[in-house]
Amino acid sequence: MKAAVRMVTRSQSRATGFGSLGNGEEPPPPGNREVAAEERKKHRPVKRQRKVQKLHVAYEASDGEKNEGTDPLEVTVWEPRDWKQELANIRTMRSRKDAPVDQLGAEHCYDSSAPPKVRRYQVLLALMLSSQTKDQVTAGAMQRLRARGLTVDSILQTDDNTLGKLIYPVGFWRTKVKFIKQTSAILQQHYNGDIPASLSELVALPGVGPKMAHLAMAVAWGIVSGIAVDTHVHRIANRLRWTKRMTRSPEETRIALEEWLPRELWSEVNGLLVGFGQQICLPVHPRCQTCLNKTLCPSAQSF
Ligand code: SF4
Repeated sequence: MKAAVRMVTRSQSRATGFGSLGNGEEPPPPGNREVAAEERKKHRPVKRQRKVQKLHVAYEASDGEKNEGTDPLEVTVWEPRDWKQELANIRTMRSRKDAPVDQLGAEHCYDSSAPPKVRRYQVLLALMLSSQTKDQVTAGAMQRLRARGLTVDSILQTDDNTLGKLIYPVGFWRTKVKFIKQTSAILQQHYNGDIPASLSELVALPGVGPKMAHLAMAVAWGIVSGIAVDTHVHRIANRLRWTKRMTRSPEETRIALEEWLPRELWSEVNGLLVGFGQQICLPVHPRCQTCLNKTLCPSAQSF
């Protein structure tokens, strides 16, 4: 509609310039101003809205269903008010990349000289060890395991007691010994010693949760399948109100974030927020006074 109005204005402008009416007629002689005005009225171009041919889209609401004044093709997606600035601030605070996750995260614990499927197995194992465990502790356990040659076969040949000693003191180490053995046996039997390349198959493995599966897909296979949400991402997303309503679990937070966060940021957000949670937005006594988001964050006053 704007284009049509602009077109009319231009033709009016032409009509008043250079002494022509724009329709081929000569201007009236001076002294006959009233007559000239009448003539101009008669020849004034009629404003007409350009008819736009409308395509019918199968999922469009019918005329009766439409809300007046709304564009039927526009979908309103909720997003947090200041998230872009808050994200930019977090990027600035994380620019030194000196948080534990940056050097010791599960994606840094595998042997880069090992064959691809061994590397992928080591990534998965590091992720399994990392839950409820500090990055430094996970990295230490991975170092001890790798010193013995860390493959599916080597783990299956290691007795539970020895494996427990190697991974101690990772969180829930006894349970993890059991899960690592079960998962390794499945990988040997069904995946030729490799790890599966789909999210559904990964989460079906004993001891592998959604966060680990999404990270394994990203690190081992280079596929972004979703946002990896751990306790840091879960806590910070809620403090910044990056979820429409408060969420009670990392999985709920993942779903809430994926509803609005642009997909191209999904792989970045985990590492960014985990490190931010390790250094500034700590679980207890967050360092709000040094945080660049302190004037934007709805939770800053609470501490
Ligand atoms: S202001 Fe405090 S609670 Fe908010 S993001 Fe920063 S550190 Fe976290």
